[in-house]
Amino acid sequence: MTKDQLLTRLLTRRRALLAGAAAVGAAGTAGLFAAFGGEDPVKPPLPAAGPPARRPLKPSAYRLQPLTGYGPPRTAPGRTPVRREPLLRMQGRGRTMVLTFDDGPDPRYTPAVLDTLAEYDVRAMFFVCGEMAVDNKDLLERMSDEGHIVGNHTWSHPLLTRLSRGRIRSEMERTSDVIEEAYGERPQWFRAPYGAWNRAAFQLGAELGMEPLAWTVDTLDWTTPGARTIERRVENGAAPGVVVLSHDAGGDRSQSVRALREYLPQLLDSGYHVTVPRRHYA
Ligand SMILES: [Zn+2]
Repeated sequence: MTKDQLLTRLLTRRRALLAGAAAVGAAGTAGLFAAFGGEDPVKPPLPAAGPPARRPLKPSAYRLQPLTGYGPPRTAPGRTPVRREPLLRMQGRGRTMVLTFDDGPDPRYTPAVLDTLAEYDVRAMFFVCGEMAVDNKDLLERMSDEGHIVGNHTWSHPLLTRLSRGRIRSEMERTSDVIEEAYGERPQWFRAPYGAWNRAAFQLGAELGMEPLAWTVDTLDWTTPGARTIERRVENGAAPGVVVLSHDAGGDRSQSVRALREYLPQLLDSGYHVTVPRRHYA
């Protein structure tokens, strides 16, 4: 490349960055979500992680497509608002719901969850733990390839309210790093383990460009109440804007996997659009 070509390329890139910054400054995170109250489940600790896998970075075709009201920009540090409570549901028109799966990925359950989502051509959110992600990068790659959103659920699933600010930052930062490496971009969403948030978690999450997302309907699937009960909780809780919490790791999640196979087609038959939220700035 000649010096002129290099200069042109740099200027073009700089213009693009400036344009992006202007859009962010003008709109902020427009109201995709509205906040409600919170829940505070308690769960058993995570199991040991699976075998390691490495992969190169790869962009996801899904995230390059312009979608209405969608299209996460590359992280704009310092532009994410510091909230005082997590977002709990999607705002907007239509019978739209979001499915979220926490604590994975786990090679015993996550592939089956992904298979069911693929069967119905549905996108979901996975709030992964760094210590699970680091050994299952192939599953994050698959999530990227199939258009799912990967969020940050800390490295080791600690109770953040008992940690120093430095430890919280480390839990978040390491996890965002491994997500970026395996998934191809840094996470834009954060979920505190046990739904236990504090000011440091909101501040540090925002510094790292992440919005805090909790949930509307808790399936309590980690108590292994039976696939039928999990299914009923989702179907009873179904309503426009609802964010559903379940788990693809952290214990025996075969009930969660089975329940999804039942409630997902039911939701779709009921006219729900099961999708993922997008941060949007414009
Ligand atoms: Zn969790």
